[in-house]
Amino acid sequence: MEVELLSTGDELLTGQVVDTNSAWLMDRLWELGVMVRRKTLVGDDRADLAAAIRETTARADLVVMSGGMGPTEDDLTSECVAAVLGVPLELHEPSLVAIAERFQRLGRTLTPNNRKQALFPRGAEVIPNRFGSAPGFAARIGRAELVCLPGVPLEFKGLADEWLLPRIAARAGEIPAARVLKLFGIGESHADDAMRPVMDDPANTGVRWGYRAHWPEVHVKWTVPGPGAAARADRIQGAVRAIFGDAVWGEGKEELPDVVVARLRARGERVALAESCTGGLLAALVTSVPGASATLDLGVVAYANGIKERVLGVPADVLATHGAVSEPVARALAEGARRLGAATWGIGITGIAGPDGGTPEKPVGTVHLALAGPARTVHAARLYRGDRERIRRQAAYEALNLLRLAMR
Ligand code: ATP
Ligand code: MG
Repeated sequence: MEVELLSTGDELLTGQVVDTNSAWLMDRLWELGVMVRRKTLVGDDRADLAAAIRETTARADLVVMSGGMGPTEDDLTSECVAAVLGVPLELHEPSLVAIAERFQRLGRTLTPNNRKQALFPRGAEVIPNRFGSAPGFAARIGRAELVCLPGVPLEFKGLADEWLLPRIAARAGEIPAARVLKLFGIGESHADDAMRPVMDDPANTGVRWGYRAHWPEVHVKWTVPGPGAAARADRIQGAVRAIFGDAVWGEGKEELPDVVVARLRARGERVALAESCTGGLLAALVTSVPGASATLDLGVVAYANGIKERVLGVPADVLATHGAVSEPVARALAEGARRLGAATWGIGITGIAGPDGGTPEKPVGTVHLALAGPARTVHAARLYRGDRERIRRQAAYEALNLLRLAMR
């Protein structure tokens, strides 16, 4: 099945809005063993929309279009599909009733242009939308099926999950087994190289492999088609885990903060944080996980040296001798946080996130991390590449990973 995506909206072309809908859908389709062939992005322009609808439906079996289903002047999807098909727009009464009811429920008044959201090309199948006011619709153009969904991400995902993906799954026949293992700190090319024996194994012919690098995370994915797919996929999972060992921190939809918080909870342990260059990012990651309160004692954003000294007990002479960005200070921060929180674990992060403040000895990207535990304090020195945001993010994830490894 050839699938193409057609995302629409001026705001996607101006860079105001990132087309997250299609990334999300491609990921879901990948799990069904369907790889999207092309993605097209066009603005709210009649001629461009009509041309894109013609082109994509001439090539693909299924085109998923998003956006332009609203009530306003620039919402042109129904109109353009009707024009391509050479059919009129028709009012779909049940949709109008549903829209009116929704407005009443929300205490909003229906304006005449809301009627527009109940107009569809003659012959189209209407897709009811319980997530918002604009229904979607599906129409046949030549040999292709065109499915038009609202652009609002909640509605797009809602209708895709409820209506579109089950249909595709049914059409795709036997659903291939998809697996994802998530690694930390291993480059994409290194991962690919290490995977060679598994990928070249004749037992794994027909398996589709993929990598996603979001440094410091790398995800290794594979889909297995055909009979016995789940068992084959699981066998591969065992082989991949054996290759990467401790670098594997999770699978499927798991996120690193989830994994770390879950492990802390399971062990009945707590953590305390002293963050300099990450400025609370690590605390934000930990507290993004529901139930984090059972595991987090405190987080101190210790930017000023005076605070490192007074709040966290970093000795003044250590700061003076080694500088704030140094191994001894990271260790003292971790131990200070652990003491302050009476926690099992203490984490200290200090570094130079840039763009200023680097020196030849301590260039931008220099980060010292320390983890104080019941037995000892471990330290890691890193030199991260990238801009301020990236350096901070890498440091926060590295700290989570240190804690994960300590709780093996
Ligand atoms: P509405 O009824 O709100 O007008 P619509 O179906 O007409 O919905 P659009 O007007 O194209 O959709 O987009 C509505 C909003 O949804 C946009 O302002 C944008 O924030 C978001 N959006 C649209 N398309 C995408 C996309 N591909 N990825 C992420 N967000 C999107
Ligand atoms: Mg709109």
